[in-house]
Amino acid sequence: MDRYQNLIGGQWCDGSSGQEVPNIDPADTRRQLGSVVFADASDVDRAVEAAAKAFKSWRQVPAPQRGRMMFKVLELFEAEADAFARALTAEEGKIFAESQGECRKTAILIEYLAGEGRRFGGRTAPSELSSTFAYTAREPLGVVGLITPWNFPIAIPFWKLVPALVAGNTAVLKPSELTPDTACRIARIFEQAGVPAGVVNLVHGGREVGERLVGHPQVPAISFTGSTEVGSRVYAAAALQLKRVQCEMGGKNPILLLDDADLELAVDATVKGAFGATGQRCTATSRAIVVESLADAFVESLAERARAFRPGPGMDPASQSGPLVSGGQLERVLQMIEVGKGEAQLVAGGKRFNDAEREHGFFIEPAVFDRVSPNARIGQEEVFGPVLCVQRVRDLDEALQVANGVRFGLSSSVYTRDLALAQRFIDGIETGIVHVNSPTMGGEAQLPFGGCKATGVGPREMGPQALEFFSREKAVYVDYTGARRSSNIY
Ligand code: NAD
Repeated sequence: MDRYQNLIGGQWCDGSSGQEVPNIDPADTRRQLGSVVFADASDVDRAVEAAAKAFKSWRQVPAPQRGRMMFKVLELFEAEADAFARALTAEEGKIFAESQGECRKTAILIEYLAGEGRRFGGRTAPSELSSTFAYTAREPLGVVGLITPWNFPIAIPFWKLVPALVAGNTAVLKPSELTPDTACRIARIFEQAGVPAGVVNLVHGGREVGERLVGHPQVPAISFTGSTEVGSRVYAAAALQLKRVQCEMGGKNPILLLDDADLELAVDATVKGAFGATGQRCTATSRAIVVESLADAFVESLAERARAFRPGPGMDPASQSGPLVSGGQLERVLQMIEVGKGEAQLVAGGKRFNDAEREHGFFIEPAVFDRVSPNARIGQEEVFGPVLCVQRVRDLDEALQVANGVRFGLSSSVYTRDLALAQRFIDGIETGIVHVNSPTMGGEAQLPFGGCKATGVGPREMGPQALEFFSREKAVYVDYTGARRSSNIY
């Protein structure tokens, strides 16, 4: 059995809380993968101290060299990708093909972000003063706190760590308490790549550890991904100390089907988006907003696909999705299904599996609700499980009204062959990511990733501006004659 430790100033160590927590396989809860002794506030303080010490020399390493080190991280990660994918399937539950997909995606984004080391710079500007060279310099912030969820426990820590480090910061990573194994593997990759001790620190734990990191006076910036509930607490606590914050949070992502939609393609996209990864992607499809003319055929076809969909253990190639990640998540999803039953028509699934292969795991049947009204809780709240709400509408205008009538705004999709309608959708939809004729999920490294409204605050992650959050711009005026008596013109 594995023992997962914290990494503080280059030393692997148990947490000081004395609280030992088992890491359980969500596909079979009889199987314990390992255990972790959680950190406490004193460990967070030591990790921040180590990161602050390491910052002094890490910030002096030229950015292209820091980027080069990230290419070494990429090389080592790719060599270990198979082991990472296995560990991910074991502790988070997603099927092996999805874990491999997460690893492929991770490699691409490390590659993209590592290259930023050669582009990390400011800009020049014309000065109103003669003999004056005016420019901006980019500089790192110091120790950044990175708080991550369990649903992409490889991709998300990497997509925060790499830009943070390329920009010259040092980091304290607090991963989800449900995925300590993948987090340790990530920290080890940075160690093996020759990143100096103290530049990447890892502390395991839950709320207490996260709160200390957010509240630590020596941490000027927090990058958080997780639920809107926790993110809003993080945002508020950080604001009290005027910290820089980036929060990427929950979603309720709609797929729209207009009259001329290719039904087969749209059903396929909905199945993948709603039930793939057990509905536990932040970009998962959770609402299908369908014009009346297609609604009956859509619901019939979708319900059939939902009934045939086969969740199962992640290493079984016949499984199409894994279990929910934890008992807590199972309970929440089942509770929301009960709520939904009182508000709409459940046309498929919604029960826990109790056959011999799945009774010891957190498996549920993919669920489809029809005729979900815009204000129903099941249509408003993030369920984060394989549950799809169908909402019937007259036309694009009503579809947009329903689609935008939630507090979230991460991702969306429209199925139509009419370019004018597609463009009206793109203009009117309140989400940070928009797809036309493709599923709601996913995102590419070279484009910004994130949402609006209660989904996202602060600068977007990834894309060309990925290092913006992790650095600040300094305006510099150099009088290169050194002879002017006063440069103060205002
Ligand atoms: P969560 O909010 O429960 O936890 C996220 C992290 O915050 C964990 O590491 C947790 O230990 C920590 N935490 C908990 N309480 C804290 C506190 N008071 N202060 C500081 N940290 C605290 O989320 P989760 O269940 O791990 O992940 C699922 C959620 O993440 C979903 O809502 C999903 O939509 C969201 N998510 C969003 C994106 C995105 O980019 N928008 C991506 C992935 C996941």
